[in-house]
Amino acid sequence: MEITTRYELEQEVVTIHNTNKAVWHPCDMCGETGYIPDPDPDKRPWHCPKCSGHKGRRTYEPTAWAIDQYVAHVAAVRVEVSVPDCVGNGDGTRYMLRETGCPSGTLHEEANVCANIAEAQAECDRRNGEAN
Ligand SMILES: [Zn+2]
Repeated sequence: MEITTRYELEQEVVTIHNTNKAVWHPCDMCGETGYIPDPDPDKRPWHCPKCSGHKGRRTYEPTAWAIDQYVAHVAAVRVEVSVPDCVGNGDGTRYMLRETGCPSGTLHEEANVCANIAEAQAECDRRNGEAN
């Protein structure tokens, strides 16, 4: 069996990433207090039925794809190949980079590793265009 990878050991590469950002949505029923006043001022306020007293809710929205602002060097390549009926979670090619930790560090999927800044920017633009 012969295994070929897109990048060589010690080759300069540029990675791209897409992180999520937390967005806070204040509850519009209770005005972000978590409580609804009882019409009777002598009674205790109610837990807001919409937010259950949490005052709002948090969602995670994708941000744009962006270039990681450093040139990195391939320090390790991890490849897993399987027969079609035995495809595991590790299938594919991943790169460990000197700049993000080796021998224990982030494994970057090949799809998120580019050969240079120009290619990384083009890939970010393409993906960000798809997202819209
Ligand atoms: Zn509420």
